[in-house]
Amino acid sequence: MIKEQLFNKLKTKGIFWSYSKNLTYEKAGDKLFLEYLLKYGDFDDLILAFKLYNQNYIKTIWEDKLKDDKRFIKLNLMLARVFFGMNVESSYFKEVKSARFEKFRMFASSNQIKRRNKMSINKELEVRSGNKCELCGSSDELSEFQVAPRDDLIVVCSKCREQLEDSDKIDESHWHCLNDSMWSEVDGVKVVAYRVLNALNNQDLLDILYLEDDILEWAKDGIKDSNAQPVRDANGNLLEDGDSVTIIKDLVVKGAGFTAKQGTTVKKIQMVQDDPTHIQGRVNGTKIFILTKFLKKL
Ligand SMILES: [Zn+2]
Repeated sequence: MIKEQLFNKLKTKGIFWSYSKNLTYEKAGDKLFLEYLLKYGDFDDLILAFKLYNQNYIKTIWEDKLKDDKRFIKLNLMLARVFFGMNVESSYFKEVKSARFEKFRMFASSNQIKRRNKMSINKELEVRSGNKCELCGSSDELSEFQVAPRDDLIVVCSKCREQLEDSDKIDESHWHCLNDSMWSEVDGVKVVAYRVLNALNNQDLLDILYLEDDILEWAKDGIKDSNAQPVRDANGNLLEDGDSVTIIKDLVVKGAGFTAKQGTTVKKIQMVQDDPTHIQGRVNGTKIFILTKFLKKL
């Protein structure tokens, strides 16, 4: 059913332009459908296809219909590398700087393809969840969701999944469900609740959500990964935890009663969560926040 819906969506987009208007999913068949989807579908359609079909099956069609077609060389290289995990000309990819490719690359690096393919839910999870989304209780299109960076899995519905995977799609009204699920006995569920509440800036619930230290660390790890913004010095060089920097301008340190002099070296700096404009470091024995635009990496 979902396959047919996707087919119809793509038909509306016009990707079957060379076929009759009366072409239906049934008439086209999976092979033709996937061939055209690979050639002309956009990124999200491809992801969905990899959820709906076996990866090896898609690969067979790709090898048969696209792989040697020079018109699709760019696309083929991406598919080979990202979706089929083949090691092809990495130098080529450095040249390709499109938003679409960035999405591909991020997707590949998070290695979610295999997990996304896995729509079935293992028995243990099935029993634990009672075949319901462990976050909102819905039983719509359930799948396993990995609570990275650990391997723990929870059961989520398609609506929760969509929002967990794309923070732009977060809809606050959907997450009232966390009022209940944050009390779950499953650590993975609590961790996801923490991350969503954090994304929603819901401090009231965060204050009462009790997490053991190691679970809290796990919850925060995921946030760091998804929100990491590059921190750069005055020259645009990337700064990381543990780097040493020089202050390039006398800075009055508010509240500390001293001036951090130009030329002062600050060792072992630390990044400030959610704020790429500052770092933390020790000057005159005092830990202070310093604007990165007044720093030079050593
Ligand atoms: Zn849900």
